[in-house]
Amino acid sequence: MALTILINGAKGRMGQAVASAAKEMGVGVGGAVDVGDNVAESLARCDVVVDFSAHSATRSLLELAVAQRKPVVLGTTGHSAEEKKQLLALAANVPCVWAGNFSVGVNLLFALTRRASAVLGSDYDAEVIEMHHRFKKDAPSGTAARLLEIILEERKLGADALRHGREGITGERTSTEVGIHALRGGDVVGDHTVMFAALGERLELTHKASDRGIFARGALRAAQWVVSRPPGVYDMQHVLGLT
Ligand code: NAD
Repeated sequence: MALTILINGAKGRMGQAVASAAKEMGVGVGGAVDVGDNVAESLARCDVVVDFSAHSATRSLLELAVAQRKPVVLGTTGHSAEEKKQLLALAANVPCVWAGNFSVGVNLLFALTRRASAVLGSDYDAEVIEMHHRFKKDAPSGTAARLLEIILEERKLGADALRHGREGITGERTSTEVGIHALRGGDVVGDHTVMFAALGERLELTHKASDRGIFARGALRAAQWVVSRPPGVYDMQHVLGLT
């Protein structure tokens, strides 16, 4: 039987992209809810919830999914590290794919960034640059946050190594800092560059998204994958077999 999803955040840019992708991929939409709608009632009719809404909505959505034992595909970004830690514990009670970016290309970028960070080492200054449309509400993007996490993990650095933009007399750059720069403007769907700069050479890994459909199709692929998994939190690397 075909999969039936509930779209949370249905009136948003991503919610609408998920609805179109569902049509394309033959996935049923059993409900489409947004602010103020009765999520519980709609969720009961669906196999899995696909969420692209607001970070403040994640806790109540997960509580509902746990109560109804429904798998979750979570695409919303903007949670603080502390908030995310608590939400992950809650999400682990159901099968849940949580990814800051559902595109195949970006998930390969994650793997390439890990490899480059390991091979190039601290002599290569790492900086992450992202650009998104003028309507985006959080910064840096969830994808940039994941890229930074990977670099910090590989270099065994803590979050205090991050430099969000630079201003004033910052002094010379140290090898134990990682820069992050968030650009906003126009209708840019999502650009990410990871730069490794040494004396004499520079490596840049860049991904550019030009259509939200890539995230929507990836999220639906995750929805099809997660319905038959045991409870636990997975990411797109698991869905794509990249781990
Ligand atoms: P948007 O502002 O266009 O849409 C968000 C929608 O969620 C709106 O319709 C809003 O009314 C609704 N909403 C807000 N609070 C809600 C609540 N409590 N319950 C139900 N609906 C609620 O934003 P967007 O561009 O569609 O992005 C949504 C989220 O998805 C953002 O966090 C964005 O960063 C993230 N995103 C993730 C990926 C990914 O691949 N993981 C890709 C693109 C966007």
